Amino acid sequence: MAGAQTDPSSQTGDQAGASQRVGDGPTRAPALRVAVLGAGVVGTQVVRILVEQAEDLAARVGARLELVGVGVRNLAADRDPVVDRALLTDDLSGLVARADLVVELMGGIEPARTLILEAIEAGASVVTANKALLAQDGPALYEAAAAAGVDVYYEAAVAGAIPLVRPLRESLAGDVVERVLGIVNGTTNYVLDQMTTRGLGFDEAVAQAQELGYAEADPTADVEGYDAAAKAAILASLAFHTRVPLDAVSREGITKVTAADVAAATESGHVIKLLAILERTEAGIQARVHPALVPVGHPLAGVHGAFNAVFVEAAAAGELMFYGRGAGGAPTASAVLGDVVSVARHRVVGGRGPNESVYAALPIAPAAEATTRYQTRLRVTDRPGVLAEVARAFAAHHVSIETVRQVGLEADGVALLILTSHAAREADLAATVAAVADLDVVGAVESVLRVEGA
Ligand code: NAP
Repeated sequence: MAGAQTDPSSQTGDQAGASQRVGDGPTRAPALRVAVLGAGVVGTQVVRILVEQAEDLAARVGARLELVGVGVRNLAADRDPVVDRALLTDDLSGLVARADLVVELMGGIEPARTLILEAIEAGASVVTANKALLAQDGPALYEAAAAAGVDVYYEAAVAGAIPLVRPLRESLAGDVVERVLGIVNGTTNYVLDQMTTRGLGFDEAVAQAQELGYAEADPTADVEGYDAAAKAAILASLAFHTRVPLDAVSREGITKVTAADVAAATESGHVIKLLAILERTEAGIQARVHPALVPVGHPLAGVHGAFNAVFVEAAAAGELMFYGRGAGGAPTASAVLGDVVSVARHRVVGGRGPNESVYAALPIAPAAEATTRYQTRLRVTDRPGVLAEVARAFAAHHVSIETVRQVGLEADGVALLILTSHAAREADLAATVAAVADLDVVGAVESVLRVEGA
């Protein structure tokens, strides 16, 4: 193993915490060599903390963290001066080979995957924020790490600064998690929030998110829900001790949410949020990402801007809520450094953190079995008997209606009907919508949105 190990008996709590022994004092374990792969938004802030907080980190770990290199693609690019140019390299494999601890902050699948596997095989521990890679290939990395006896930690991969992976993996390890419900993508929350609070259209809100650096030039990963789905897969695997592959997460983004949907939501006392919903059901695990109506009184409705918030419901603990900054260089670096300190401590005292826990191997329920309340907006002919016809179509497909409202009678004899259903199977709702759309009296199905958190 490439790691700098020490005799645990030479470490005492007193020694590990004694600030006067910061540095290379005789009782401190040998320095741990840290390689940072990537010096972008997050990597730069990680380097900053490693450099500026070196003394405190050494005291907390019980060994100095020596930054041995920063891997990048473009050596000539302008960088924040906190990144010492002498440490930059584009030979990332070479850098990985001389590290005890590799912090992967490049993103994407390759070469991140290969470099992480090289690190593990060389006996280095790994910290990564790469949700896309973990959602796609996490199990292969966790298995390699278990075989090599090293850690792969990834707190920053889900909800940025918010501690969520560790609470699920460790704090709640003795409980039964029933449901996880949350806003795990700050970009889409910002876009929907701007549409709700400032009346912006979708394109305008996305453009503003891009100007502020909340959205990428190509916002697809966020607005189509791919980023949230990757986080949902990671969270579901942790919450339910079961491997939940990315393609088991049903996904719908926010690109179809219109200003009219937002206005109708406001009018009915809701806000629209992109939610990740992970549930333990009788049919198995349900994992889905989609926009949903949340009642204004629900705590998730009050999550504004680019913030994230996640509810966890556990059998004994009850409801827990985690809230904070889900992205950004410094917040994400905080989570990365928390992991760096944890895995470094393991190397100093010996041992490693918990293995991937997938013993439960619960079945994954088909998306069509998901049960939710729905709000359906219909444009209908305004004449007697229309409501009865619509209600019959709902009843024929086992979807029971909780409330009906007629809004804004239009001049040309067209009315808007807003129907909210009791909990219904997704498959039944889909059949209902198809049947309703075929009715002569229905001009258009304006929108179908799920209602959560009621
Ligand atoms: P970023 O700003 O695009 O930075 C990526 C860095 O990796 C750059 O320094 C780039 O080098 C380097 N890199 C990329 N591909 C490379 C390659 N093939 N060879 C060598 N170097 C390569 O990305 P980021 O926003 O910091 O995100 C990093 C990771 O953190 C991602 O996995 C992301 O999902 C995750 N994350 C980010 C946030 C956030 O708020 N940004 C939040 C949570 C998690 P050059 O500088 O030379 O181009």
